[in-house]
Amino acid sequence: MFAGSEFKSVRKALDEIPIIDTHEHYGKTWNSPETTLYGIFRQSYVGAEWLAHDSELEDDPASLIPWLEPVRDNSYTFSLLRAVRQLYNAGEAELDHALVRELADKVHAAYQDEGWALSVLRKAGIEHTIVDPLPVPGYPHDEPSFHLALRSHMLVHGYDRAARDHGGDNPFEFAAKLGHQISSFDDYLDYVDFWVRHHKEKGAVAIKSALAYERDIDVKPVTRKEAERIFDTGTKDPEEQKKFGDFILDLLAKKAAEYDLVFQVHAGLALQATSHPCRLMWLLDNNPDTIFDLFHAGYPWTQDVLAMAAERPNLIVDTCWLPIISPTAAVRFYHEYPEVARRADTLLWGGDNWYAEESYGAAQTFKDCLAKAVSEKVEGGRWTRKEGLRFAEGVMWRAAGRWFGISL
Ligand SMILES: [Zn+2]
Repeated sequence: MFAGSEFKSVRKALDEIPIIDTHEHYGKTWNSPETTLYGIFRQSYVGAEWLAHDSELEDDPASLIPWLEPVRDNSYTFSLLRAVRQLYNAGEAELDHALVRELADKVHAAYQDEGWALSVLRKAGIEHTIVDPLPVPGYPHDEPSFHLALRSHMLVHGYDRAARDHGGDNPFEFAAKLGHQISSFDDYLDYVDFWVRHHKEKGAVAIKSALAYERDIDVKPVTRKEAERIFDTGTKDPEEQKKFGDFILDLLAKKAAEYDLVFQVHAGLALQATSHPCRLMWLLDNNPDTIFDLFHAGYPWTQDVLAMAAERPNLIVDTCWLPIISPTAAVRFYHEYPEVARRADTLLWGGDNWYAEESYGAAQTFKDCLAKAVSEKVEGGRWTRKEGLRFAEGVMWRAAGRWFGISL
């Protein structure tokens, strides 16, 4: 993606360094033999949930090319197409119907081997992965290199037994499945504790909140008494709902510290009126013993996140998703972070994908961006090659190993 002799040497060196990927969404079907090329594209960021298309993508080679037409220049498309070409040996050949058919056949054949998806991660250099499994929070993968991030924001909806989060999850239903009958607010608080402890015992390394997709990420102080008053009232008042949620988010942050889990939190791209990372300030400051892993470097507010990283002692910064949103922003972020952060070993990366092909592409783009920033600093005399590679290693695995307690 970038050029120059120093870039090329650093980029090559990064292929020899293992990665701890801090964020993926692999669910039960991530390596299913039913996987298709078309399904991967539909589910990915190239799909209709994220980008605009003029046509539907059918399971048909003739439909992929017109479907891609309006989004050919987008970074998600570049990253995924490059991954598919590399993984299925398509070289630089023009993407025509014959090539799409060939790729579709190869994807289908590859997924008949249940080890294929994991082998793709290994080809990308990914040795460990923190997984927030979709669509089922807490889904227990038995792959030992997968570590659970426990999607927990459904718990903010305890003001109404029928309320669901944006993923369709309801805390009372999950509680019932886990054998918890909830009648009182005390029962609910007991269940919150059980939910975290139970998954910690099963190997969780993080609690995750993706609330930026459904409400303001700001949290304000709420007393237990106020939360108890709102619990299970079925209130339709958004302010009351938010108050209850604020109490629970603060509680989850405290549970993270209590059970030695990192609190992963989404900020940036989502409901943009209410997802600015600075809106997390009270929650961070009110929970000094909790390590907050701030996702996506808060893109597009990356400069504000750099300022937070300069001052907040309980913040680590995750560039998951960032390189495939904007390689330009990612290069700049990798340049500036070590210059301003309170401590440099707080910078991480994850793919934030559903399928291994996407993660492979995201890892390549990540390494391109990181190598670009490092090589420019080496060329400029700021770092020796060795110092540059040491920083790169920190982003690729050392910081994740330290903060999540994962050994390579
Ligand atoms: Zn995610």
